[in-house]
Amino acid sequence: MNDSLLVACPHCHTLNRVPPARLTAAPVCGRCGQALFAARPVALDAATFDTHAVRAGLPLLVDFWAPWCGPCRTMAPQFEAAAAELEPQFRLAKVDTDAVPELGARYAIRSIPTLILLREGREIARQSGAIGRADIVRWARAQHG
Ligand code: ZN
Repeated sequence: MNDSLLVACPHCHTLNRVPPARLTAAPVCGRCGQALFAARPVALDAATFDTHAVRAGLPLLVDFWAPWCGPCRTMAPQFEAAAAELEPQFRLAKVDTDAVPELGARYAIRSIPTLILLREGREIARQSGAIGRADIVRWARAQHG
């Protein structure tokens, strides 16, 4: 059987093979032993982004933000709460566009916060401007049935 999903560990970024039926059974990382789903977004940088965005099998919902951005700070706890609802069908991630400007450039981020839903590194949908937890969850699920 080779229908298992590649799931990137949010702690050590190792790729783990997880059978779909085990996704909801609190799987742990084979390398670091920590939970593969921690009910919170994972902060990604240039070194770790492609592991989660391109190589891992789960759709990746990325919050592009910056520390000086008021609406970004407003949305942060909403996005964190959405992670608890959207895992393990989605991985949620945050990219600080000040710290990692090359990722903002790659996805042509013109305003923040911007949410982009990626599948195998390709953009499926984007949403600009702060929205609440329920809207984040509804939007993500609508893009990826
Ligand atoms: Zn790990």
